[in-house]
Amino acid sequence: DSSANVKVVVRVRQFVQRERDRNAKCIVEMDPKTESTTIFAPRDSSSARARREDKTFTFDKSYWSHDPQDAHYAQQEDIYSSFGEEFLDHNFNGFHTCIFAYGQTGSGKSYTMMGTQDQPGLIPRTCEALFSRIKDEPEPNTTYSVHVSYFEVYNEHVRDLLVMKSNTPYYLKIRESQTEGVYVQGLTDAAVKNFADVERLMKMGDLNRTTASTKMNDTSSRSHAVFTLQLKQIQHSLITDETIERTARFRLVDLAGSERAKSTEATGQRLLEGGKINKSLTTLGRVIAALADPRRQAVGSPGGRNSPRPGTPSRRGRSTPLEIVPYRDSVLTWLLKDSLGGNSKTAMVACISPTDYDETLSTLRYADQAKRIRTRATANIDAVS
Ligand code: ADP
Ligand code: MG
Repeated sequence: DSSANVKVVVRVRQFVQRERDRNAKCIVEMDPKTESTTIFAPRDSSSARARREDKTFTFDKSYWSHDPQDAHYAQQEDIYSSFGEEFLDHNFNGFHTCIFAYGQTGSGKSYTMMGTQDQPGLIPRTCEALFSRIKDEPEPNTTYSVHVSYFEVYNEHVRDLLVMKSNTPYYLKIRESQTEGVYVQGLTDAAVKNFADVERLMKMGDLNRTTASTKMNDTSSRSHAVFTLQLKQIQHSLITDETIERTARFRLVDLAGSERAKSTEATGQRLLEGGKINKSLTTLGRVIAALADPRRQAVGSPGGRNSPRPGTPSRRGRSTPLEIVPYRDSVLTWLLKDSLGGNSKTAMVACISPTDYDETLSTLRYADQAKRIRTRATANIDAVS
């Protein structure tokens, strides 16, 4: 077993054209020595009204991706090697892992997770590294199998992204079982033999992703996209004649934009979508708040398996009972239940824009709270006869 806090990093992106056009100022600073991120309140009349102030937060890592000329500039490769790669290591050791990207629309979530053709993000880099390890550094007497699934949660419905879009939308049901935990029934689980297989599926999935243009970002998606790699390693020991199986899942989640629907001036259908997306995000916020409750840390594990240590405020804990974690209140949190508070090594990358004080502050606060969550991961190793 290994109990650890959710690893939280923040990344600030470059200006986009729209911001350059209006001569936007960067209100974010990062200190590489302390891994802290500071946002400065804009000194104009409207900010005086809102009583905004400068705020500093510290994270596991603060990635400066704002200015490519800067010595501390973090490019896609740096995000993978100093953040993502560790989780692939855990996978090979049999642990479930999860990385999710949080932030307002246009803050760089998809760039960080999927990236572009020229600048691939965490998902393609992880897949490529996984296959090169299998090819170049295989364990003795081990067979490997890799499966991929890709779905989105849109309007509280689950849609398979690996099935070509048809005119009649269909939605998959969520089930929960003793053996499998929470899962999506009938979801495509594609066997992949090499990176080219995965690339083909990623392309198909991205084509299928529901997008709707909003005022903030023409191609922004209103859906949550969940890409899952499953790695199975079957190892036969010639000495003991035993066979062991290690199964681990890597979930990479690109959340929908965290902004409120009204800030995009969305109307009609899009407002409806925004409302429902907010249900999943609001619930995610409540789940994170419940998991980050200090009293939950005091009893050791999210599952409460450890008895309280001496001196922890268990009495106070009894008088105001711990809130039940409301996983089931939204599709997203129900599906991410294990990744958020259970058997998983989990990380969050908070993506921020360099210019937007209110949304950035809200993202940093969210990320700051996520730091307090502890998960307890167990290596998924089974002896098979
Ligand atoms: P989101 O998925 O959060 O809505 P995107 O990933 O689509 O945001 O990013 C918005 C825009 O900013 C895109 O044009 C993207 O290419 C660009 N962008 C985001 N992050 C970076 C970065 N670190 N470096 C360069 N461009 C970036
Ligand atoms: Mg996106």
